Amino acid sequence: MKPNELKFRTRAIHVGQETDPATGAVIPPVHLASTFVQAKAGEWGRFDYTRSGNPTRAALEATLANLESGVGALAFSSGLAATHGATMLLNSGDHIVAGADIYGGTYRLLHKICNRAGLTVSLTPTHDLAALERAMRPNTKLLWIESPGNPLLSITDIAGCAEIAHRHGALLGVDSTFATPVLTRPLELGADIVMHSATKYLGGHSDLLGGALVVRDRSLFDQLYFVQNATGAVMAPWECFLCSRGLKTLELRVREQSKTAAALAGFLAGHKQVRQVYYPGLKDHAGHDIARRQMSGGFGAMVSFELEGDMQTAKRLVERTRLFRLAVSLGAVESLIEQPALMSHASYDAADRQAHGIRDSLVRLSVGLEAVEDLQHDLEQAIDAAVGGE
Ligand SMILES: *Cc1c(COP(=O)(O)O)cnc(C)c1O
Repeated sequence: MKPNELKFRTRAIHVGQETDPATGAVIPPVHLASTFVQAKAGEWGRFDYTRSGNPTRAALEATLANLESGVGALAFSSGLAATHGATMLLNSGDHIVAGADIYGGTYRLLHKICNRAGLTVSLTPTHDLAALERAMRPNTKLLWIESPGNPLLSITDIAGCAEIAHRHGALLGVDSTFATPVLTRPLELGADIVMHSATKYLGGHSDLLGGALVVRDRSLFDQLYFVQNATGAVMAPWECFLCSRGLKTLELRVREQSKTAAALAGFLAGHKQVRQVYYPGLKDHAGHDIARRQMSGGFGAMVSFELEGDMQTAKRLVERTRLFRLAVSLGAVESLIEQPALMSHASYDAADRQAHGIRDSLVRLSVGLEAVEDLQHDLEQAIDAAVGGE
């Protein structure tokens, strides 16, 4: 059978993860070598130096390219290194349009590092395609979006963005960390670049830092490979091994975590101390219809909500949960809770944060693989304690 006739979860286990021909080992060995012998001076083999290529990294990249329906993938040392790699395709004077609802670290990268290279950036609510159209300029070379967005889980129409980007001669890059290729495959919807923080769902166990870019065009792949090799932010072999290991259970984890998240979102929506719940699976979520179209079989495992009360009430809540650990990051088997205004989005200017609707009392959950009953009880007791002022 050709790889693409196999189901996603089968490909996640087999593609790129062939038996080692030298030993018969079922799991490909981890190649820690930094350099590789050449048969003759100047005669390059498949691998020569680990920054340029490494067998363990190549195995992971083969799996990722397949799962995201791309021609090639590049594994980076972190998600931000991957995003930075994509921005390095641009030249001084070029303009980037980015979603307003993006990861705090991406905001910082665009506004405080890319500006030094002469790039200008506009933040736009990309769930509003008319606003996006107005933000595009003749020198816009990259449109960068997240769907679901962070931390408000806004939904952006990826196919609609691809049409706008391409009509303006720009590339569309999608940070698909929250959706994972289980739920959404942006390249199939017209995106040029998919980016992941592999630190999150791809790795899935809070034990590695990594990132990835996947593309569907060979010449774009070659340009990005050149950038990565020239700048050096590659994922290390051990992290590549851990990430390949994580990918084998990606579909099972994401489907189960999404189911639990949907149940918790429903519970929170019915709780009298909860003012608002942000979850694309809820019918009253502004992006629900688009999410149903572009996400398959679940709406993800991230849920945000606001309690009645102020910043201090929310702070008490995030400090009172027992199973939900108080930490940034997301996407792993253990559930996490955080307060974006004080944690993940603290690098935003306060005014920008307010303008984009990230309230001080907002709480964000990353729902893990624990039993739904246990997680619901944990939230119940923490909400009671927080509202009670304990
Ligand atoms: C964590 C994250 C990143 C950054 O990835 P790192 O691996 O931490 O560098 C980018 N985008 C999203 C949506 C993230 O959650």
